[in-house]
Amino acid sequence: MTPSYPTDSECLFCKIIAGEMKSNIRYESDQVIAFDDINPKSKTHVLICPRGHYPTLMDTPPEVITTLLEEVKTVARELGSDERGFRLIINNGKEGGQIVFHLHAHFLAGQQQHGF
Ligand code: AMP
Repeated sequence: MTPSYPTDSECLFCKIIAGEMKSNIRYESDQVIAFDDINPKSKTHVLICPRGHYPTLMDTPPEVITTLLEEVKTVARELGSDERGFRLIINNGKEGGQIVFHLHAHFLAGQQQHGF
């Protein structure tokens, strides 16, 4: 069945979302998917993505951003980081250090975060 959200057949994260590429999925809902980053920068490093393909934050409709942030709270509860705390990063565009152009939030947790 064709998904009800935009997709890009060339996009790595769309392939993970479609189940065409392997990943360690930590949480899924109708709206988002959260999976382990292959190059973790923290004990817990999960990427939380809307299922729909929006290359950057700037391209993303407000309702998708709202849902993504609400789902971050759910992921935090699911992973036991809601009270301990976590860091959320969205790299946006080339100078923002974005490498994969499918909106995602880096969820870093499981240890004290430093560097800001
Ligand atoms: P960004 O710089 O915000 O675009 O981050 C992209 C992230 O995707 C990096 O932290 C990569 O380690 C991660 N990444 C790249 N390929 C994969 C993959 N196949 N599975 C999980 N994470 C990935």
